[in-house]
Amino acid sequence: MPHITLLAQQAKAVQVRNIFCIGRNYAAHIAELGNRPEEDPVVFIKPTSALHPPGTPIVLPAHSSDVHYETELVLLVGQGGKNIAEDKALKHIAGYGLGLDLTARDLQSKAKQGGLPWAVAKGFDCAATVTQFVPAEHIEHPHNIEFQMHLNGQIRQHGDVRKMLFPIPFIVRYLSQVFTLQEGDLIFTGTPEGVGALKTGDLARLVLPGLIDTEFNVD
Ligand code: MG
Repeated sequence: MPHITLLAQQAKAVQVRNIFCIGRNYAAHIAELGNRPEEDPVVFIKPTSALHPPGTPIVLPAHSSDVHYETELVLLVGQGGKNIAEDKALKHIAGYGLGLDLTARDLQSKAKQGGLPWAVAKGFDCAATVTQFVPAEHIEHPHNIEFQMHLNGQIRQHGDVRKMLFPIPFIVRYLSQVFTLQEGDLIFTGTPEGVGALKTGDLARLVLPGLIDTEFNVD
């Protein structure tokens, strides 16, 4: 089973269950792709075989010629639950990490035109690339998290959780009304603007200042 690492006092391996993803959660990214904001969050799921922790290069899929990075804050669910209230939501988060919701943009655009699902555009191997996770108790103000993605030494994405259209407590409540959240679930919370193509030879660096600084080579 796929695992991630939680950077507790002694690094702890956590078995990953479901991988939920939120789409269209930052206005400037919605605009850059020519989409409209939604009344409810866009939700999709990746298979656990897409999970790719640090240590090996990202392998781009052969079935796409335009794979985009989408850098996102990723929540690790600790205690699971159903119908979780917003004021209890943060208690269900065991850790925070960063991830790349890798997207075969060519296939996704085609699927969107046909009104078809995104599985082949969002679910391939390495499509859920993640850093190690920081225990929730090390993050004093989850409402103020900022993060960056550097591509080949240049900042390409800057995320600010305060700009989320659907904030973290909303996401946890919303998902838990539809799905029973389980310990080990991951939640990708949506990408800010600045998405672009990943190419062989690229170096992607994900930074949560003072807590996470992880590099991924692209094969
Ligand atoms: Mg995304």
